[in-house]
Amino acid sequence: MQGVDLHTHSNISDGTLSPEQLVHAALEKGIHTLALTDHDSMDGLKLAEKVAENLAIKMISGVEISSQWSRPSTKKNYGVHIVALNMQNPAPLLALLEQQKQIRAVRAKQICDLLIPLIGEDIYRDVIAKVDDIPDRVTRTHIAKTLVEKGYVSRPQQAFDKYIKEGKKAYVKFDGLGLQETIQVIHESQGFAVLAHPTRYDLSATNIRYLIEIFAQFGGDAIELPPAIEPASTRQMVDRMIEQFGLKVSVGSDFHGDNMPWIKLGNIPRVKEGQVGIWESFR
Ligand code: AMP
Ligand code: MN
Ligand code: MN
Ligand code: MN
Repeated sequence: MQGVDLHTHSNISDGTLSPEQLVHAALEKGIHTLALTDHDSMDGLKLAEKVAENLAIKMISGVEISSQWSRPSTKKNYGVHIVALNMQNPAPLLALLEQQKQIRAVRAKQICDLLIPLIGEDIYRDVIAKVDDIPDRVTRTHIAKTLVEKGYVSRPQQAFDKYIKEGKKAYVKFDGLGLQETIQVIHESQGFAVLAHPTRYDLSATNIRYLIEIFAQFGGDAIELPPAIEPASTRQMVDRMIEQFGLKVSVGSDFHGDNMPWIKLGNIPRVKEGQVGIWESFR
């Protein structure tokens, strides 16, 4: 499993390397199996595949889908990221991603509009300049970066905490595909559905368990293992749920280039004995 990284971002979303640069960087890190998983976009794949063709690196098609689920007992909607991997017939997924991109573009403008009374400035033009004026590529990372550059906050995390995370005044929910529909369309595209970073949603242990349970019920394939920096007890909890619901595992760094310099490409957690890697099912 060394040399596998199945969760990475390029500058097609909120990473800083181009898809081509990402492939070269991966090769230098000794990665032989790489998935590019930009937010709601597969636009970088062709570029990455073209470079990888002549190199000793296998590109796996991928995308990180902004999805949502709800729990009847709490009547609340929760956001969740589903990584889709190794699509053999991407057409159904590509069609739905067009809708996701529209939602992303509209939401970028809404967030900037909500920021106007809070900071006294419209930063929309500066935000989309960060994504080559292609609004459907805007993530909150770009908005946070713009707020730092303009001096409204000192670090990106502060932009989330003060303005754009859930519960703050400029938060806009990503009203995307439902969880079941997301898994369904990934399977129609003959790919695998992976629940990304299960412990990064600010959920209680009970809600993480419920999420993993419905993910398995809806036919989800694998759970991404938490990074090694998380407490051993967190990892053990996830390991138990993986075993209980009979799911496979995935490994990825969630590399974002210089936007998150502490995350290193190819830095993935250890797979526990008995766990089955989703990469073993790749075609
Ligand atoms: P979006 O898909 O536009 O909601 O942007 C999501 C991206 O913003 C994630 O992939 C992270 O890279 C980043 N992000 C989300 N929440 C936070 C947070 N609380 N602090 C820092 N970065 C975050
Ligand atoms: Mn991101
Ligand atoms: Mn994510
Ligand atoms: Mn990611």
